[in-house]
Amino acid sequence: MTTVGAAAPAYAGGAAPSPGAPGIGDRLYPLLGNGGYDVQNYDLKVRYPQKDPKQTVTGDVTITAVATQNLSRFDLDFGGDAVGGVTVNGRSATFTRDGDELVITPRRALRKGKEFSVTVSGFTATPIEANASSPAGFVTTADGTFMAGQPNQSHQYFPSNDHPRDMATYTIALTVPEGWTAVANGRHVGDRTRAGYVTSTYRENKPLASELIQAVAGDFIVHDRAPVNGVPVRDVVPRRLADDLLPKAAVESSQLSWMTAKVGRYPFENYGSLVVDTDLGFALETQTLSLYDTSLFGAPKFVLDPIMLHELAHMWFGDSVAPHEWSDVWQSEGHATWYELEYAEETGVFSDYTGVKDRETYFKAVYARGDTYRQRYGPVAHPLKADSIWDVFNPNVYDGGALVLYALKQKIGARDFDRLERAWVSVNKGESASAQDFIALASAVSGKNLRPFLTDWLFGTKTPPMPGHPDWTVTAAPAPGAATKAAPAPAPAYRR
Ligand SMILES: [Zn+2]
Repeated sequence: MTTVGAAAPAYAGGAAPSPGAPGIGDRLYPLLGNGGYDVQNYDLKVRYPQKDPKQTVTGDVTITAVATQNLSRFDLDFGGDAVGGVTVNGRSATFTRDGDELVITPRRALRKGKEFSVTVSGFTATPIEANASSPAGFVTTADGTFMAGQPNQSHQYFPSNDHPRDMATYTIALTVPEGWTAVANGRHVGDRTRAGYVTSTYRENKPLASELIQAVAGDFIVHDRAPVNGVPVRDVVPRRLADDLLPKAAVESSQLSWMTAKVGRYPFENYGSLVVDTDLGFALETQTLSLYDTSLFGAPKFVLDPIMLHELAHMWFGDSVAPHEWSDVWQSEGHATWYELEYAEETGVFSDYTGVKDRETYFKAVYARGDTYRQRYGPVAHPLKADSIWDVFNPNVYDGGALVLYALKQKIGARDFDRLERAWVSVNKGESASAQDFIALASAVSGKNLRPFLTDWLFGTKTPPMPGHPDWTVTAAPAPGAATKAAPAPAPAYRR
């Protein structure tokens, strides 16, 4: 959730009402999110008419928001099929569609600082097939549908301010034919059965970024596990595969304890795993219910378990503390990779998992690739482009981001590094945070001005010296324009 200033008096001294910007101001995704308002809550209802994983679904969403300027018009992001109608504060509003922008003109201008509600009714969306080479979003499988919205696909499913800078709470009610099961982020509020349909309602009370929504519906079962430190744990798997998948997911319980011991209290009301029967080529940290595919669940335990820890670590880093803009994705991925590797080492699977003996050897190898990564993908906190999702979710934000944390730990020592990690997830809980926020907090916690050091590591085009390892060397980057293969990542490239 972005911060809204104290309620400003209506146009008194303010600007005349004007249109909200069509994007929230993200360099990599200029039209993602929107300007002029701050969403507080989504009330999303989606109906699945048949037991058909390929079907078009129909929904209504009511968004409660606060205007951050005097608004004559504003946009939502929506890339689904159709829109039935739009009301603002209960009165019908005019709307047009321009690409993935749903442009809404209320009858009366909205005043800065005032709360308003917008309802989009009768919208429809149709799931797509997904595989390792295509974007995801609202995805169909043999058993039903699920969401994999990161970073810019959730608005294919529902109208939203689709950017992690604008987190909000959610109530999600999914209506499916009796015999199907539907699960969404957060706590299960209850089920209501009527005329052959079951409406299952979920409440996410903690701020949720739209990219991390989960809404799974189909022939799935929900399996409850014993709570961990008071946190309820449930898994969602295809009914026909439950006997194979559920035992493999059980490690998440000990991982919850492990991760809590590392960085502090789990930030949400529940946790668990969703496994879908497809080959996405990635796992995804959908909030409170991490998403995996059967391809990963067929991998050896020394691969699966560190990836599961990576997604769990995202609940603190990426979900509870979201990127302020997509250039900040190194914060999410660097930290998740950091704990993934630490877990692999502590559980004795590091060499099987990565092919090298320990983290120091691993980071030395990543360090050697530093200039190549920076040339190919851009500095750690400044991916060059977003033509493909892999331009943004590139090896220099995963391994390169973790390497920045390694350098920082070398610089400030283990004790201050540990204090910083705990402070980061506590101070920024439920909000988005930027690289500048990280630099400021690292400086405050360590009592050192880390601005020059971290600016070089995060934004430099050359890899800085590694504190404590003057012998570590960087391999020369290939000549600009030279045809080269991407430097191979040392670890399995499955995580996301
Ligand atoms: Zn990740």
